Amino acid sequence: MKRVIAIDGPSGAGKSTISKEVAKALGFFYLDTGALYRTVAYYFSKKFPQCNDFSSLSDREIENELTNIQIHYDCDKVFLKGEDVSLLIREPKIGEFTSQLSAKKVVRTFLLPLQRKFAELYDTVAEGRDMTTVVFPDAWKKFYLDASLETRAKRRYEQLLRLGKDINFDIALQDVLERDKRDSTRKDAPLMISPDAFYIDTSKMSIEEVITLILKKVAESA
Ligand code: C5P
Repeated sequence: MKRVIAIDGPSGAGKSTISKEVAKALGFFYLDTGALYRTVAYYFSKKFPQCNDFSSLSDREIENELTNIQIHYDCDKVFLKGEDVSLLIREPKIGEFTSQLSAKKVVRTFLLPLQRKFAELYDTVAEGRDMTTVVFPDAWKKFYLDASLETRAKRRYEQLLRLGKDINFDIALQDVLERDKRDSTRKDAPLMISPDAFYIDTSKMSIEEVITLILKKVAESA
């Protein structure tokens, strides 16, 4: 395994923007594992257009479909069977389906080798929910990014507005709450703070401040 900087945290903690910039500054590969989970959910949303709750699918049904899924990921873009789905996977509905499907052990087992493969090839900044605990327990550096619920809901709300979505703050807050609950209470690989991760509350920090702090911590103990 090459050097891995593993970054976990709930939605709205600023992981994606920050991880991308840290990777760029260090010349590391940027691995957005949420994009991989979202691509799986996107596949299921197309395959089962009537389905509104994927929690109810059986492991057998999911496993049968997973064999059809080919994902190609290259830092900026993600492809499903050759189709560029980078923007499509950002739809709010896909976020919800992703959270339902990512609670399934079969889905997590399917994506595990793909995630680890990148770290065999490149020095990597990997962000998600179980980077520090399950996927890269022996990571070179570990961080947990957090922020207050209000801050994260506000960021989510502003992000959806930027995407041109018709949304109000309460819906964004509800979305964050539900996702938090599902991601941190699931049986397999729940979101949790690894005791050996450096914890950062980003609520009152700018993106630049968080990036600078992470780079400082990495340099300190390099
Ligand atoms: O990070 P992002 O918001 O794109 O992730 C979408 C969803 O994918 C999360 O809410 C979570 O359910 C799931 N996920 C996960 N494990 C990861 C990354 C994402 O379960 N390592």
